[in-house]
Amino acid sequence: MPFLSEGACAADAIPSLKLRPCPHCRRSGNLNGHGFLRGYGEGSFGGAVRARRIYCSNRGRRIGCGKTHSYFQAQVIPRLSLAATTLWNFLFLVLSGFSQKSAHQASLAPGTPQRIWARCTKAQGMLRHNLCQLAKPPPAVLVAPYLQVVRHLMDAFPDSPCPVSAYQSAFQIPFL
Ligand SMILES: [Zn+2]
Repeated sequence: MPFLSEGACAADAIPSLKLRPCPHCRRSGNLNGHGFLRGYGEGSFGGAVRARRIYCSNRGRRIGCGKTHSYFQAQVIPRLSLAATTLWNFLFLVLSGFSQKSAHQASLAPGTPQRIWARCTKAQGMLRHNLCQLAKPPPAVLVAPYLQVVRHLMDAFPDSPCPVSAYQSAFQIPFL
């Protein structure tokens, strides 16, 4: 599930699209922009652009497979209405000592704090594994194991305003 680079908008041209392989047939040279994927983002009422759709052309002399795939914006978490920036605000507040309930209220995250926290906890094995490629894990002084992952995420992307988006863009996989 590919992602655009951090901060890139789905309306921007994707750099070197013609050189990229199609995730379905692995051939390159046949990819074209093919509109946008819209969906239920936070507060979007179903109309927000979430991804750029790409068509692997089999028309004319093209030898693509005719299938489509999508490049998600880095701040979109596929299949969730929760935006990466909102999730990051929530996680950062919990790391800073807020209760999950007050962090949830302050970040204006949709859903319930329990549900978000459960998803994050479930994903932590994969997160740890990937983050170790970029930064050493922080010392185990923080009590909750998941808070170490949040700290690790900050250490891995120290210059990013939203490490959750940066993670998706760097690893080309959804954060949750
Ligand atoms: Zn293809």
